[in-house]
Amino acid sequence: MLVPGKILLDHAFKNGYAVGAFNANNMEQVQAITDAAAETQSPVFIQVSRGALTYSRMTYLRNIILAAAEEHPEIPIAMHLDHGSDLELVKKSIDLGFTSVMIDGSLDPTGKRALTFEENLEVTKSVVDYARPFGVSVEAELGTIGGVEDEAGVSEIHYTDPDQALDFVKQAAPDSLAIAIGTSHGAVKFEGECILKHDLLEELHKKLPNTPLVMHGSSSVPQELVVVVNKYGGNMPGAKGVDIEQLQQTLGHGVSKINVDTDGRIAVTGAIRKVLMENPEEFDPRKYMGPARDALMEVVKARMIQFKTAGNAPKIEQITLEQAKELYS
Ligand SMILES: [Zn+2]
Repeated sequence: MLVPGKILLDHAFKNGYAVGAFNANNMEQVQAITDAAAETQSPVFIQVSRGALTYSRMTYLRNIILAAAEEHPEIPIAMHLDHGSDLELVKKSIDLGFTSVMIDGSLDPTGKRALTFEENLEVTKSVVDYARPFGVSVEAELGTIGGVEDEAGVSEIHYTDPDQALDFVKQAAPDSLAIAIGTSHGAVKFEGECILKHDLLEELHKKLPNTPLVMHGSSSVPQELVVVVNKYGGNMPGAKGVDIEQLQQTLGHGVSKINVDTDGRIAVTGAIRKVLMENPEEFDPRKYMGPARDALMEVVKARMIQFKTAGNAPKIEQITLEQAKELYS
């Protein structure tokens, strides 16, 4: 069933695990993500970027996610807007029934320019004011995560400053905060070694002992999946992700939501390439979309186990959005 994102964040925060947040653009991806959640008894964020909303013409993806929620009433699912660019898009998403939104006030709506602290604060406040009466949770971002996601992004990482973060959360009061501690969007995350700043995370968690933190750009880009893509005609040189052990070390230190998109993309693409290359006569889309769905499900399941989400679906049977409005507004 669909639940407000805040319920999942708070449960993960209190229990020292992180909820995986996986991006979807189509039916097979939504099915893979929710089937993995059902199989591992995990709560889950299904996230939809601005680009995915446009691609799916606003309503299709939302209705597919509602179908998944109907199929899996036992799994708490948050329908989340990823990298919302402005209040207008947030309003549209809430109209569509999203239960959680991110306002990315680290970048301007074109995704090219970093916003100032004051600009970020202003847009985040306006989103919190708008969303809270609906019981919809708000994720903000401070600092910029490197790499490019869905055409939005800057190349450098600006690490989140702990004092600024405290000031920001006090003033804007988002339900969660995306932080930059060294993760990066995309398939080529690092030229050199992956180093997450655990000391910085510790400092942030100390300053914000009650705020669930979010990690973006946290795909691990497993080399065995990259090999499949490259073996069957693909070309992904230098693909490199976040070290999974370093990622796991963030658990229990305030990190309550971890975003994974690239890993799923690679799994899907590899599976499709393999089928088509091995079976050039094949032209039934189900014959390659089916294996793509299976491959994605395996990746999502693995992350749910690694993030300690598995087995942690909170007992939230009867918390509806109506009740959430009363709880959180
Ligand atoms: Zn992101």
